Amino acid sequence: MSGLTLEQVKEELYARGDPNLTPVDIEAKAPLVHEILRLKAKHNVVIRGHNCMEPLVFGLSSKQERGDSLALSRYAAETDADYIVFNGVMFMAETAKILNPQKRVLIADKTAGCSLADDFEIFEIDRLKADNPGVPVMIYINSDAAAKAKSDVCCTSANSEKIARVMPGEKVIFIPDILFARNLADDLKGVKEVIYPGQDSETKGAICEVHEQFTLDDLLNVRSSFEMPKGHPGRMIYAHWECNHEVLREADFYGSTTQIRKDIAERVDAGSLERAFIASECEMTSNLAQEFPGVQFWTACSVRCQHMAKVTLEGVLRVLRAIDEGGDLSEFEINLDPELIEKARKPIELMLELS
Ligand code: SF4
Repeated sequence: MSGLTLEQVKEELYARGDPNLTPVDIEAKAPLVHEILRLKAKHNVVIRGHNCMEPLVFGLSSKQERGDSLALSRYAAETDADYIVFNGVMFMAETAKILNPQKRVLIADKTAGCSLADDFEIFEIDRLKADNPGVPVMIYINSDAAAKAKSDVCCTSANSEKIARVMPGEKVIFIPDILFARNLADDLKGVKEVIYPGQDSETKGAICEVHEQFTLDDLLNVRSSFEMPKGHPGRMIYAHWECNHEVLREADFYGSTTQIRKDIAERVDAGSLERAFIASECEMTSNLAQEFPGVQFWTACSVRCQHMAKVTLEGVLRVLRAIDEGGDLSEFEINLDPELIEKARKPIELMLELS
């Protein structure tokens, strides 16, 4: 949308046909969107947008600037922009900084955390290593830089299985997400043993406070209330890897946000998808509903990520105004110790190489 006049921005927002975006919202928010896009172009800023951002914030990023954690890491490693504004949460912005230490990486709200990263104690890695000498440590990208620095390889939900398979040996330690780890252990049974916190030890992992809220009963209720029988090719229930095991097993398809989007796109192309329920963060469904208007989407919008929601249009505009005015960016800027960057980069680069 860069280079559009205010009127053109409004037209674009109306054309989305989003039922959640009323004329009142559009009239109120279009000037913010317009100003952000003007400053973005003026200062050669890249705005990376995660799939779970609310649609107006997500729409600030061009198609090439959007994606899940894996896609955003890849883009971060390639950009030639002077500034990277990261519309996502802290671990994502940190990853962008690790891959681009010479760039200025900014986030609208530095308190936008993630329960997976924030609830995991780094000393648990030492305990797991001590209990399992020589076993490689694979860390989910939803983690702090300091935890990554102590791990052998990083992964995202899109490539965890692939990376676990190619790691040397018969076992792999997976941290910090214990629900994800159980799902992965199940999928890799007979191929690779997945060791995770709390499995057979006192160690503690973490869970995604959003995805853990979906239950088997929720999915069964969706099936009966919305006539979505299991196995129906045009009425699909999707679940993210971070959900509970029984939720994953009940879903018609499970995967990362990119894998879910890809499956939807393929079914839409084939003309077969009528309805979809997505057991994941609510705004991911909002963004998919905009992209695939012919599909009837459902989700549970009581299930939101409070961290993702901290990044707002107003916050992003504050970041761009601070750049424009040449002001102090410390409120927004990601700064990491160079030694930590060096150590944390290795497992991320290995992931990019292997995936
Ligand atoms: S949805 Fe879950 S995994 Fe994603 S940022 Fe929020 S708490 Fe973290």
